[in-house]
Amino acid sequence: MSKLIHPDDVDMFKNTIKSLFENNESQSMEFRFKHKEGFWIEFESHCMPVRGEKNYIENTVIISRDISERKKAEEFLLQSEKLSIVGELAAGVAHEIRNPLTTIKGFVQLFKREDTNSIVFTDLLLSELERIENITSGLLSLGKPQAVQMNRSDLGELIENTLELLSPQANMNDIQFKFSSAESPFFMICEKNQLKQVFLNILKNAMEAMDEGGDIQINLRKGAEGECIVSFQDQGCGIPEELLPRLGEPFYTLKEKGTGLGLMICHKIIKQHHGSITYQSKVKEGTLIEIRLPLVS
Ligand code: ADP
Ligand code: MG
Repeated sequence: MSKLIHPDDVDMFKNTIKSLFENNESQSMEFRFKHKEGFWIEFESHCMPVRGEKNYIENTVIISRDISERKKAEEFLLQSEKLSIVGELAAGVAHEIRNPLTTIKGFVQLFKREDTNSIVFTDLLLSELERIENITSGLLSLGKPQAVQMNRSDLGELIENTLELLSPQANMNDIQFKFSSAESPFFMICEKNQLKQVFLNILKNAMEAMDEGGDIQINLRKGAEGECIVSFQDQGCGIPEELLPRLGEPFYTLKEKGTGLGLMICHKIIKQHHGSITYQSKVKEGTLIEIRLPLVS
């Protein structure tokens, strides 16, 4: 019997039954019970003593209700609650950053016009400022759904652009990107910068997981009808199986300087694009992340 009860719940289960006998009164509890196919069902149970002659407890009756769906819904609500708080915070901070940023940008532009000798530096400054602007607008879009510009673009091109952006950093860490793609162009309707952000976040994680360098395989291919699959396979530290469900949770990070926002943003963007993301991982061997996205015909 105790094998059928989740190991973490066995003690609580026993205690409840014990107190039923000790106090001679009904008890309620929630525990996980094993389905014959091996997964756990969440039970909400009511246990009642059945008294025989002389008021002794002869039997116990346990009535259980499957509340797995309710639990899932509760978890989902909690997650979206957390998400909306993160979004609000991020949007607030981003807004505050944008004001001084506008001033700085204005003066750099002025400076550029007056001192043509340092044009290389001013251009660099301006492009970095633009990056900060992009990041802050990304954060703002987390807070409130902005009007995003959906355009037709080729996924292969987007991936190549992203890899270019990261290749200096990869070189420094002895990491090679191996990009392979099926022939055809992969057109989809998307917000380019957002999808780039997804690829960037995933590749960054892959690189950060590979202390000793190695290869990251990126592959683009056709999936099921009207769908394509982008996969990222790294040779990094991997993720223990029990932690996989936590990926994409806000603030979930195992890194000292991590934010735990990277994958959360990925999940949000992929969802906006009607796609899905899955993880497979082996500790010390590497991680495979697959993103499925709908194509335009
Ligand atoms: P951050 O990178 O700031 O920690 P993320 O949301 O990007 O936040 O990632 C969350 C956590 O997921 C990371 O801290 C790491 O533990 C794990 N993770 C994500 N991608 C990988 C990967 N490719 N290999 C190993 N662990 C990963
Ligand atoms: Mg990250």
